[in-house]
Amino acid sequence: MKRKFSLTHSMVAGIIITAICIVFVFSTSSCQKSDTFAGFPTVEVRLNGKAIQTEVPAIDVKGHIMIPRELIEEILGVSIQEINDSSTDPSADVSIDLSALEELQKELASAQEQLSKYALQATSEGLMPIPSKPVKLDCPYVLLSLGVSPNCSFVDKFGKGGLLGGSMTFIYDNMPKYIDSVRGRDSILVYDVDHEVGFDILKKAPASINQIIPFTPEELSQYAPPYIWFRLDTWGRQRGIAVVGGTEDVQGDIAALANLVASGKVPIDRPVTPQVDAYAMAAKPLDPSAIPEQPTVVSSEHFEVVTHHSCVDDGPIMLKWAEETMDKLVPVFPDALETVPYVSISVTVPSGKLQYGTAFAHTASNPPKITFIAPSLAAKENPYYDKDWYIGNIAHEFMHCLYEKYSLAATGKSVSNRDVPMWFNEGVGEYARLIVLGESRFDAKQAEQYNPAIQKIIDEGLSSVDAYSGGAWALRYMNSEYGHDKIVSLMKSKEFSFSDAMKKELGVTLTEFEKGLKEWLKKR
Ligand SMILES: [Zn+2]
Repeated sequence: MKRKFSLTHSMVAGIIITAICIVFVFSTSSCQKSDTFAGFPTVEVRLNGKAIQTEVPAIDVKGHIMIPRELIEEILGVSIQEINDSSTDPSADVSIDLSALEELQKELASAQEQLSKYALQATSEGLMPIPSKPVKLDCPYVLLSLGVSPNCSFVDKFGKGGLLGGSMTFIYDNMPKYIDSVRGRDSILVYDVDHEVGFDILKKAPASINQIIPFTPEELSQYAPPYIWFRLDTWGRQRGIAVVGGTEDVQGDIAALANLVASGKVPIDRPVTPQVDAYAMAAKPLDPSAIPEQPTVVSSEHFEVVTHHSCVDDGPIMLKWAEETMDKLVPVFPDALETVPYVSISVTVPSGKLQYGTAFAHTASNPPKITFIAPSLAAKENPYYDKDWYIGNIAHEFMHCLYEKYSLAATGKSVSNRDVPMWFNEGVGEYARLIVLGESRFDAKQAEQYNPAIQKIIDEGLSSVDAYSGGAWALRYMNSEYGHDKIVSLMKSKEFSFSDAMKKELGVTLTEFEKGLKEWLKKR
């Protein structure tokens, strides 16, 4: 293409070389002065560090290095043409053919683009630069998902401006009460992806807390835990999520993430993961095939079963087993399904602390949540984890949920906030296992574990054995000596203190009860 310039001859070369230098500066190439005599320098023209012409004679006019026109044409393959208007005016118009130069510019631009891509790739694979404005926490509001202890490192390290959670559903249910104080300060959600079974639960977040947890399940599932990610909300508050799970030491991972924040190496807007030396590394992108798929949900009137994508066939089986369990339990606890109308069962894969034989209930979730390892995987590991094991444990965990509701209704307090002995809490669970399995199947499953406790209880008392064995025998005795209705009235007692409840409902003190238990066990 042609461009018209209204310049003097001698200026043309100066302008062009300035243009070239600009291009070269941006492209990391250079046009370097190699040798300077007073007023008569020679220059070396380089492209991408490679000299294309050395010893090019030039002149220095007030700091402008100028190369004769013919040399520029020769070196760069451009043609500079004068427009002949027969003028002898020294400021005659000239036109310059810049097409070759523009080709060169295009090549340089694409090289530049390539370079910046490499630079981006380098930071996404390697150490993160220390951010100029790192995340800084001072008494943040700490939110906890399922499976994260309230004594987590974020509380230890930064103090707590507030603490809320135990599960995402608990956070959702209770956030309205605390939303103003959470909004008023920075916040960090510590999220255990195993216990919450993926990120799907975040889709159920009420709109009011979108600003508090400004991340989507899709973007969170792209990275391998542990990692931490912060964003700023509309008011400039730091909103973070620390994602853990799938590793051996989740507690240690939480501590490492908290240390990373404390060390001032966590940027805003990029997920980072700790390295052994507490350097901030860019969080590793998973390859697309490794992005966890969403769990499958099957449900009935009283249960939903949320199943890990790798064992979807286990979902309907667990649902059927849960229904069978209730078929056995409801005749004995007729108000069970009115009291606990809906339970969410998580069926997941072993990872970290979730191992075969895992069964636990989060009674404070709404709906209550029970977590198991997929039965098909557990059975392969050990045939002990068969249908009876699962049915017995569904009954046991359901009982924790039921007792929690009874306790809240009668005393306004959670079982865990009262002086209920561990043996009674686990005992009602084992009592439910006995109900759904019947004595012979119960004994086939549990005798090996529970029979050694008999002599120990006789000799040293209930507190000398674990709560499960002790509770199993104590409740069996309670049922045979006092009857099922007394067990229910003890669970529903309005007496806040357990020993008062026992005196009122069973007519005995704890010591008298234990004495009776020992006598009963001796006769077995
Ligand atoms: Zn239990």
